[in-house]
Amino acid sequence: MYEEEEYLQLSGIQHFAFCRRQWALAYIELQWAENVRTVEGRLLHEKAHTVTSREKRGDRIISRAMPVSSRELGISGECDVVEFHRCGEGISLQGYDGRYDVIPVEYKKGKPKSSHVDILQLAAQGMCLEEMLCCEIPYGYLYYGETRHREKIVLTEEIRDEVREMLREMHDYFRRKYTPKVKWSKGCQACSLKDLCLPVLGKNKSARSYVDAHVQEDM
Ligand code: SF4
Repeated sequence: MYEEEEYLQLSGIQHFAFCRRQWALAYIELQWAENVRTVEGRLLHEKAHTVTSREKRGDRIISRAMPVSSRELGISGECDVVEFHRCGEGISLQGYDGRYDVIPVEYKKGKPKSSHVDILQLAAQGMCLEEMLCCEIPYGYLYYGETRHREKIVLTEEIRDEVREMLREMHDYFRRKYTPKVKWSKGCQACSLKDLCLPVLGKNKSARSYVDAHVQEDM
């Protein structure tokens, strides 16, 4: 169980799955705040979150921008949308009659990716909701703006194990303030941090130490 001050950002899972160094530059070496926003915009939501709101549509209650967290995983973040579907069993909701299934829905602007980073993020959201609401969430949806289609994603034990393992690794890196060395991949070309990452060096240096060294040279 993690303390609140140890929580990492849920959205970081996508960065970490894409490139561990990118995540470390963004979330450990915080001097890249401007670029983090660029990456967030391109790789993650790309969707303006509104303040938390809830609306009822027939047998569904739709909650937007819902804050979530997990002590077990040590993360906090936000769900784009959580749908509560009225059913025979499930959880009760304050102010509403009946019982409800809980279904996270993550919105993405683009189309489905070849990697499963979006699924990892959705699974982490589902696991947070399970812990917060004491319920089981067997599936969620990923909605892609380009295809205007939502895909049902079963939150399997395998994907949950991967989320747990990834978060253990992220917490370990964060505790040690560890930035992995550059490792070239196809993704580097499209990476918004590539200029700051300095992949051309290909050495085991943190970006901070590179910049510090050059500042000292200039002085
Ligand atoms: S340029 Fe490549 S190695 Fe560097 S952070 Fe981006 S993806 Fe990772």
